[in-house]
Amino acid sequence: MPAEVAGAALIDGKELAERIRADVALESAALAARGVTPGLSVVLVGDDPASAVYVGAKEKASREAGMAGETIRLPVDTTQAQLLAIVERLNADPRVHGILVQMPLPRQIDPDTVIRHIRPDKDVDGFHPVNVGKLLIGHTDGFAPCTPAGVQRMLMEYGVETRGAEVVVIGRSTIVGKPMAALLMQPGAGADATVTVCHSRTRDLAAHTRRADILIVAAGRARMVTADMVKPGAVVIDVGMNRIPDATTKSGTRLVGDVDFDGVRRVASLITPVPGGVGPMTIAMLLHNTVRAAARTLDG
Ligand code: NAD
Repeated sequence: MPAEVAGAALIDGKELAERIRADVALESAALAARGVTPGLSVVLVGDDPASAVYVGAKEKASREAGMAGETIRLPVDTTQAQLLAIVERLNADPRVHGILVQMPLPRQIDPDTVIRHIRPDKDVDGFHPVNVGKLLIGHTDGFAPCTPAGVQRMLMEYGVETRGAEVVVIGRSTIVGKPMAALLMQPGAGADATVTVCHSRTRDLAAHTRRADILIVAAGRARMVTADMVKPGAVVIDVGMNRIPDATTKSGTRLVGDVDFDGVRRVASLITPVPGGVGPMTIAMLLHNTVRAAARTLDG
């Protein structure tokens, strides 16, 4: 059997996320013993079913990690002024160390205005311009967005050499692609990479992806990356989460990534599955950021 047919090894995001969450629970208990129980407040506006699932998962995970906090559920017709008043209250509450406003928001609310109202030292999502700026400068006292931070942690935990590596990121969103590139181009451990960012206007995408030692895909296009686009032996990280129809399942749909997993795993050396790859890491890194925010209140 040719070596490449043996298939890539899997990056087990679920197992890694559980380990991080166990560490977070220990740190949370240690902080509580010093009088500071980490508190995460999540705000959900409206009744988008996917958002409700994400928020429920964050609530459960923070409780399991021994954190305090609450989920504030607001009606879909909440005004921007009402939401900003709640953010102000959470900003001022010393028991709240992390604030997360679940996106997307209803049309009458401008997400950027809301994000700018969150105190940067409580912005555990890492979307406030202050934290975005710190990430780009390379200051480590801000918060990096949870999904790209989770990807970087995965690469480090699996011993993937990023120094000098050719990294290609597909996607330039503020949530994933741009911060992913910013993290990996910094000097230091788990970074020092040569990063190319591809997007919907990129000419000849495959010419870029075939050069990648590490290919990170966050395009939101089901199975768009096929085996012929991947260099043999590459590490492939699939951030995508796409629901596609599948008559064989109870719900009639199935979750797939942006990577054609069955084809690409024959070529890659290491690959993340969907589900069970990047997804679980996002919540783990959110908890990690919240514990850091709480710890900083003790450091003065
Ligand atoms: P987005 O829609 O904001 O951005 C997608 C990016 O992909 C854009 O910059 C676009 O230019 C690029 N793109 C789209 N089609 C392309 C193509 N054919 N060729 C090259 N580039 C293309 O999405 P996002 O918020 O960055 O999310 C991307 C994916 O990651 C989605 O599937 C989303 O569900 C998933 N996601 C997963 C997690 C997680 O925790 N696992 C977190 C955030 C997002």
